[in-house]
Amino acid sequence: MARRYLIETFGCQMNVHDSERMAGLLEQAGFEAAESAADADVVVINTCSVREHAEDKLYTRLGELRQLAAEQGHNPIVAVAGCVAQQEGQSIFRRAPDVADIVVGTQAIRRLPMLIDEAAETRSAVLDLNPYDDVTFPLGVTRRGDPVRAYVTIIEGCNEFCSFCVVPYTRGHERMRPKADILAEVRDAASHGRREIQLLGQIVNHYTAPDDLSCNFIGLLEAVHDVEGVERIRFASPHPRHVTPTFLKAMARLPKLCRHLHLPVQSGSTRVLEAMRRRYTRESYLDLVAQIRETLPEVALSTDMIVGFPGETEADFAESLSLTATVGYQSMFSFKYSPRPNTLAAKRMADDVDEGEKTRRIVALQALQREIQTSLNARLVGQDVEVLVDAASRRHQTELSGRTSTNVVVNLPGPLAWIGCTVTVCVERAGPHSVWGQARSERETGWRYAD
Ligand code: SF4
Repeated sequence: MARRYLIETFGCQMNVHDSERMAGLLEQAGFEAAESAADADVVVINTCSVREHAEDKLYTRLGELRQLAAEQGHNPIVAVAGCVAQQEGQSIFRRAPDVADIVVGTQAIRRLPMLIDEAAETRSAVLDLNPYDDVTFPLGVTRRGDPVRAYVTIIEGCNEFCSFCVVPYTRGHERMRPKADILAEVRDAASHGRREIQLLGQIVNHYTAPDDLSCNFIGLLEAVHDVEGVERIRFASPHPRHVTPTFLKAMARLPKLCRHLHLPVQSGSTRVLEAMRRRYTRESYLDLVAQIRETLPEVALSTDMIVGFPGETEADFAESLSLTATVGYQSMFSFKYSPRPNTLAAKRMADDVDEGEKTRRIVALQALQREIQTSLNARLVGQDVEVLVDAASRRHQTELSGRTSTNVVVNLPGPLAWIGCTVTVCVERAGPHSVWGQARSERETGWRYAD
């Protein structure tokens, strides 16, 4: 009988995509997907260490697997992958000696099947944190979990060293993937029905093709735009300091590029931005937003924001609130600061905003953001929007959802056959996180819930 695997993923899209790659490698090695840890021979936990809270999830999960072994006698091989694996290495075996069998770093996941065989044979702890500079990945191996969207990595690692960020330490220095590889993967994904391509990298707009030095990120977008079958293109994330007028003009002339720009700001205070080593100011960021609004008035912006960074005063935080209100983000990922290992902020700055105050600030920021989203979404009521349908509710398969080009989640009734189709939806009601409507085609075809 084939061995079965389960991969559990925490964190960002980069991790989701790494999990798709690991799933493909395991299936190539003869494994089959399991439904749960209880029927898996191998459990891979793909971890995130971007916040302390995310890191804690690993140890909670390892505790649950320990309990599974104690209560049901089921003892799968447990591999810890991702950023916590890279950051903590050997110490994971010390903290969870009876659960973790393998620790595999972010750049070593291609060796996962071999590491599993080694752990099964030797029944001893197996560690592989070796950096692997080659950013090519065998074409066709990735087992994509999303029927509509394909993640395609263009850059691995980061050289920016923002003072709060662990990524340069866990994912290594910046490495660009060859354009030819990227385009081959995009063509392959499109030929397998993936209508939307999401290009991934820590700073996507820093891209230069190693195999064609005349091709920068704009050139890459143009090449992806030309691929037949690709309907929408997204990318995550650009760095504000590399967003140029030329880039904005390119966005405006390429219709497949989604009208959404994730523009991480992190703080609204120039003083804090300087301590974060972000290399832009509040003023230059707001100037950039004004340029975007002028060149691309229909584009929705989203962002990342940190509260309680070392030295953040009440006045600094008020600047984050006022910047949030001024920009009017369509969505925001907001976090309480926590010191991350090796980072400049952890080594040189006191974590001096107390926990209660961080909580008060994040609650205030999230309340403001919720108000903004509610009001932006309410403006869609009564309008027709184009929705690429990408999922059905697990409970009611006639409840579908998808996204607009501006990245608003739209819920609608409809048949499963609409997954992968772009449907015109008339929005009828709105909430802070999504909107609801009816497809025009439903009205035209007479399709009803009960069908
Ligand atoms: S740009 Fe800054 S925040 Fe983004 S991954 Fe690099 S170091 Fe981290």
